[in-house]
Amino acid sequence: MDDSVGLLVALVALLAGLAAGKAWERYKLRAGRWIDLRRARESPRYLLGLNMLVSNQLDPAIEELSTAVGLDADALELHLILGNLYREKGQVTRAIQLHQQALQRPKLTRGEQAYLLLCLGLDFKRGGFVDRALEAFEEVLRIDGANRQALSNLEKLHEEQQQWHEARAIRRRLTALAEPGERPRHQAILAFLEARLGVQALEQADPDEAVSRFEAAIALDERAVPAYLDLGDLQRREGRLAEAVATWDRVPGVAPDRAYLILDRVERASRELGDDERFPALCRRLIEANPQDWRARLALGRHLADRGDPAGALDLLFESLVHNPHAMSVHQVVWQALAALHFDESRVRRYMDLMRGAVFYRDPHVCMQCRYRSTELLWQCPQCHEWNTFVEERITPAEES
Ligand SMILES: [Zn+2]
Repeated sequence: MDDSVGLLVALVALLAGLAAGKAWERYKLRAGRWIDLRRARESPRYLLGLNMLVSNQLDPAIEELSTAVGLDADALELHLILGNLYREKGQVTRAIQLHQQALQRPKLTRGEQAYLLLCLGLDFKRGGFVDRALEAFEEVLRIDGANRQALSNLEKLHEEQQQWHEARAIRRRLTALAEPGERPRHQAILAFLEARLGVQALEQADPDEAVSRFEAAIALDERAVPAYLDLGDLQRREGRLAEAVATWDRVPGVAPDRAYLILDRVERASRELGDDERFPALCRRLIEANPQDWRARLALGRHLADRGDPAGALDLLFESLVHNPHAMSVHQVVWQALAALHFDESRVRRYMDLMRGAVFYRDPHVCMQCRYRSTELLWQCPQCHEWNTFVEERITPAEES
C-alpha cells in the first residue's frame, strides 16, 4: 500500500478509535472505575505509540500500544486501534481476534457495537472472507442504518461479485443520505450501475430490459457514456442502423472527452448506410470543438488514406502526433501513407523532426483517485473501485517542458 494512504488509514483508525474510546470512558465513569482508564492514557507507552502512528511507523506503534494494553486490558480504544493496525499490516487473524474479543464485552453502547462490527467487516474484507464481511456490514446497518462506511463497503463487495441490483439498492440509500450538492455524483454512479444492469440483461437475452436500463442510466446522468454506446450497439445488432447512429451522436454533446468512443462505430454504420459525408463531418466537428483531439485526426486521417488521399491524411496524422506522439496506431497509418507517397523525402523529414522532441508515456490513462495507470480507458478502477475516474495524461513536447 502507498505510504500516504497507509498513514491516512492509520489516522482515521486512530480518530475513530478515540471517538469510540470516549464513549467507553463515559460508561466507565458511570461504573466508577475511571481511574483504570486514566492509567493507560497517561502511560508514556500510549503516547509513544500514538506518536509512532503519526509518523507512520506501524511496527513500533504496535509494540508500544501492545504494552499499553498490557497495563490496562479494559481500554477499548487501544484494542480498536491495535486491531486496525494489525489489519493494515495484513495480520488479519490477529485483527479479527482483537475486534471479536472487544465485541464480547458487556455493556457496549450501540455506537461502540456498530464501530466494532465495522472494524470486523473491514478485517474480513481484507482477509477475503466475503460472506462474513457482508454479514458484519449488514449487522452494522441494523444498528445504524445511516452508516456510510458500512454502506460503501457493502456496495463495493456487491460490485466485485457483479451483484448490480444489490449495489444499486445500496447506492440509492447513500444518495438519500447525501447533501443536495453531492447528489449529482451519486446520480452518476447510479447511472453506471444501471448501465451494468443493462449489459447483464443483454447477457440474459432480455433486450427490452436492457433498453430500459440504458435509458434509465441516461435519465439519471446524461453523461453516462457506456449507456449510449451499449444502447447504440444493441440497436445496431437489431438492424436499426440510423437509430444507432443517432444514439451515438449524442455522446460528443454530453461528454466531448469521450467522443472518440463513437468514431469507429459511426464510421462503420455510415458506410453501411451509404452516407459518405457523415463521418468526415463528425471528425471535423470534434477537431474544431477540441483542437487537441488526436483521435479524431487519426480517424479522419485513416479515412482519407483509405480513400486515396495519403497527403491529406499525413497532414492530419502529423497534427495528431503533436498531441499524442506515443500512439502506435497513428505511426502505423503514417507509414502506410508515406509508403503510398513513395517515401516523399520532405514528408519523411517532417516526421523525423516531429518525433525528435516527443515525450512518451506508456500508460496514458490515470485514475484521479489512486493514480492507477492503464493503457486503456476503464469505467471502474481495478485498484480503488471508483467509477469514471480515469483521465488521459497530457503529452508535452520535450522543448516545452
Ligand atoms: Zn483508482
